[in-house]
Amino acid sequence: MSKSDNIPPQPYNNSNEQPTTDRPVVQATSPYTSLRGTSGSKQLPAFDEALVNKYNRSGPRYTSYPTALEFLPIADDLETKILQNREAYAPLSLYFHIPFCRHLCYYCACNKIITKKNSDSGDYLQYLIAEIKHKRSLLSIPKDSTKPLVKQLHLGGGTPTFLRDEELVQLWEFLQTQFEFLPEDEGDYSIEIDPRELGDNTLQTLRNLGFNRISLGVQDLDEAVQIAVNRVHSAEMIANILNEARDLGFHSINIDLIYGLPHQTPATLDKTVRRIIEMSPDRLSVFNYAHLPERFKAQRQIKEKDLPDPAEKITMLGNTINTLTEAGYQFIGIDHFAKPDDELAVAQREGKLHRNFQGYTIMGDCDLLGFGVSAISQITNVNSSYILQNHTDLQVYQDNINAARNNSTVMPAVKYIKTSIKDRLREYVIMNLLCHDYIDFKDVNQKFGIDAVTYFINEIQQLGEMQKDKLVDMDIAGIRILPKGRLLGRNVAMVFDEYLEKKHKNRFSKVI
Ligand code: SF4
Repeated sequence: MSKSDNIPPQPYNNSNEQPTTDRPVVQATSPYTSLRGTSGSKQLPAFDEALVNKYNRSGPRYTSYPTALEFLPIADDLETKILQNREAYAPLSLYFHIPFCRHLCYYCACNKIITKKNSDSGDYLQYLIAEIKHKRSLLSIPKDSTKPLVKQLHLGGGTPTFLRDEELVQLWEFLQTQFEFLPEDEGDYSIEIDPRELGDNTLQTLRNLGFNRISLGVQDLDEAVQIAVNRVHSAEMIANILNEARDLGFHSINIDLIYGLPHQTPATLDKTVRRIIEMSPDRLSVFNYAHLPERFKAQRQIKEKDLPDPAEKITMLGNTINTLTEAGYQFIGIDHFAKPDDELAVAQREGKLHRNFQGYTIMGDCDLLGFGVSAISQITNVNSSYILQNHTDLQVYQDNINAARNNSTVMPAVKYIKTSIKDRLREYVIMNLLCHDYIDFKDVNQKFGIDAVTYFINEIQQLGEMQKDKLVDMDIAGIRILPKGRLLGRNVAMVFDEYLEKKHKNRFSKVI
């Protein structure tokens, strides 16, 4: 999108290079006089149906920039070198992908394996342990410690509780021998939970180990919707899990909902949302169901005639946002809400929120180490930043781990990208827009040695239409997403995505 090919700096020349008012973009003065240094995130999103319809188009969720579509095949020894050169003092965030599920949810677009074979989890755990051992042996250790520091850990899937309680304990205890973990009241240790797959003592076991957050996949409480997507559980079951988790002292509970599912109507979803609010989770994610049966086989079980139409979906979104914000939830961004005293909401107000493969996070200073089939790692060294992904096929992943046991240079990652300084500049801009609804040009100039107004002149011009529609405001200090633009933050971010128009226009689901 940008015609600029190199970052280095172009001298700032106020009279020549600053856009003029007949390019209706960066105004020298703004009606928002306090624009610099403020966060639009303190403002409630304003739902404007006409604007949502106008700007609703396909786009990435930006858990990374560049996105996974840019990954390339990796050379044999590169992952080893990247891990060996990792900065010893950079803290770690660990991610474990547990791919197994006992039942197929028909809306599913995840990397999962449907199985009822309990022994699958034990076998898989042995591969995870081998991968941990292998990667850990390559990492440098800080001088004042014996092990690398971990600040965050997340178990996702699939269904992480497909691992039996004793296997969860085995994994956790092995990790303690390999890494130094921040104390439980400072670190962030979370797990995704399918309410139907929770053993009687699993929550207690997890809490005893040191897990302090859970995320519950609820999606909808309406029975007709649950039957249509093959995921049936009662509201009481969810409420009981929340109560037990609170009694056990979990710090934060997230609930996932989905809008746009078969048989959902604005009225049924509203009932679900209100019932969930009564349960008072700390965080809520309200995802848009994207029906892509040609890409995701499970979705072929869903009949198109049962899906709500686009107008109904927009109504559902608008109602849900209004109901949640009226109930006091802070809109974080994209599809996330949090109570005002939740760490995510506090971090956003303080300008300390980040976004990575874990979604919104307060642990933005961590390198991410992923383990398991399809897991992603993200390592930032002094001069370069890498994103790596393990194979998405279980058998190939296991073959790679077996090979690594015999040859220390073989690693499980099969794809990667080395991000250029240009990528990192755009990543910084995109993540600031998605986390804080704001780009401070002076800050960008200082960090990247550019003149942001000149460098992004094409993007700024493209934002002119959004400025007219009051989705964004721009002045000489920066770009700010306004309340009407908060739901469309991804659309604003997409303007700064150099890869999107060139290659991937139709690869993503709709923003709303
Ligand atoms: S939605 Fe989650 S629980 Fe359901 S099949 Fe997919 S990965 Fe498994």
